[in-house]
This record gives sequence, structure tokens and C-alpha cells, in this order.
Amino acid sequence: MSVIGWRQWAVDGAGRLRPAWTPWSPFPAGLLLWRPDGLTKAFCLRGARDDLGGQMSQSPLTPHPRMPGEDCVCGLYAWLSAHELAAAATPRWTSRPIVVGAARLGGRIVVSERGYRAQLGYPVAVVDPNGVVSTAYPVARYRTWDALVAEWDQPVK
Ligand SMILES: [Zn+2]
Repeated sequence: MSVIGWRQWAVDGAGRLRPAWTPWSPFPAGLLLWRPDGLTKAFCLRGARDDLGGQMSQSPLTPHPRMPGEDCVCGLYAWLSAHELAAAATPRWTSRPIVVGAARLGGRIVVSERGYRAQLGYPVAVVDPNGVVSTAYPVARYRTWDALVAEWDQPVK
């Protein structure tokens, strides 16, 4: 299964795409990165929190056998449609630039009322009129939201 999901990213100082809603600390720097090489995999934050709470030596990270877990909150998140992304609030926890766009999601995908949680994902298109996203990402870049949506929005079946 492979679908296009819609989301916001916060852009770090190196132009890399990171979660827009999950504060990056206390997690290791590489953990919540949407990788430019497209090999981003879901990680279970519940497991990470437990481990960082003092159990690290005794319980190494143990992701679900099947990611993302049905009854968990893990996975790479995305809205179902451009319309839902457009209606979403803008994160306020960070002063980093926030960019919006589309990601191709793959592997195991849990579909909920609000969106997708996916096992695998890579960004495919961003609205980036100011050029804040690293050129390491092989993404389509648009100056406007309307231009991106015109090319990437798929009719809901
Ligand atoms: Zn989980």
C-alpha cells in the first residue's frame, strides 16, 4: 500500500524536515528526522519515553512487531487530504520555520478518522518559497500552496 499523505514539518537549522507537533527533545537527534534519503521509518515514542525514563540499560528499544501499533500512537503521521491539512492549526511550540506539503507513505498504514499513521514515509513535495528546506531532499518545491495542491491532491475515492 502506498498513499499520499499531507502534513506540516518544522525545519531545523540544517534545513532538515522534522515533526511539527512533537518537540524534538528529549529524543536522540536522528530519531524524529524525515530523512533526505527516503528511508524514514516509524518509531514508537512510547517505547522511547519509557527507555529515557531510566530503564534504558534494562530495556533496549523494542518497537512493536508490526509498526505502527493499532492501539498505540506511533507511526509517521499525515492528514488524509490537502483540505484537512489546510484546515489544521499551525504549531506554536517552535520558532523554526514550518513548511507544508505531501509525503508518500508506505509499508504498514493505519488509517484513522483524522489521518494516516504509516510505517514508512518520504517527503515528495513542499511549499518552500523561501528556500528553507535542504537541497538534499529530492522533493518538488512550490512557491504557493495552490500550485502544490494542483499537482499532488488526489480525488478522495
Ligand atoms: Zn507504538
